[in-house]
Amino acid sequence: MNIERNIYDIRERVARAALRAGRKPEDVTVVAVTKTVGCDEVYEAYKCGITNFAENRVQCLLEKQEDQRLVVSDINWHLIGHLQTNKVKNIIDRVSLIHSLDSIHLAEEIDKCAKQKNIISNCLMEINVSGEESKFGLSPENVNVFLDGISELSNVRINGVMTMAPRDERPDMIRSYFRKLYNLGIDISKRERHNIYMSYISMGMSGDFEIAVEEGASIIRIGTAIFH
Ligand SMILES: *Cc1c(COP(=O)(O)O)cnc(C)c1O
Repeated sequence: MNIERNIYDIRERVARAALRAGRKPEDVTVVAVTKTVGCDEVYEAYKCGITNFAENRVQCLLEKQEDQRLVVSDINWHLIGHLQTNKVKNIIDRVSLIHSLDSIHLAEEIDKCAKQKNIISNCLMEINVSGEESKFGLSPENVNVFLDGISELSNVRINGVMTMAPRDERPDMIRSYFRKLYNLGIDISKRERHNIYMSYISMGMSGDFEIAVEEGASIIRIGTAIFH
């Protein structure tokens, strides 16, 4: 595993993809997904300039945060996996962004816990644009109902949208899903709502991040390509 070289490589590829699409490389944030590695590797990536890290399980995220080397003010933690309502209270003030908000029920629990801690919780709506059955996420048709349903919540802020493309899908299909998410984000941003700020589009993983950057991703979530 050569984390330094891998990160350098990814940054190069991100920059080239951004330039191909007429975008600025610095408008794409690389979030390192650390679910398969331990704190040594996380710290190594931090030393190479990565400051955004993600886990998909609450417990793993909390464990990594306890490592003293990682208790620094410039690290942001993201939760990217499915979140159960009974875990919300453990994580709510430990993450800067929850990528996996996919139901009104979950939004209400986040709102309740955020109120208790006197914070605003920043979340992305996870959207299942491919329609793959095994995936979590709101279906695109239900986004409006969801947004109406959460319009009264004062301590949840929607900062954008997130999706996962199916693995092993054809590149042109993956591109169509990413494009669909991007356009959905544009549609949503046109609506005036007090708790919606369409700042982030989180899409693209190790196998498809260049397509995602070309299609407008502002956050890419990279695991294997960094930690291999
Ligand atoms: C594991 C995971 C990733 C990273 O996947 P890689 O293919 O290893 O880059 C990104 N997003 C989510 C939601 C994940 O669970």
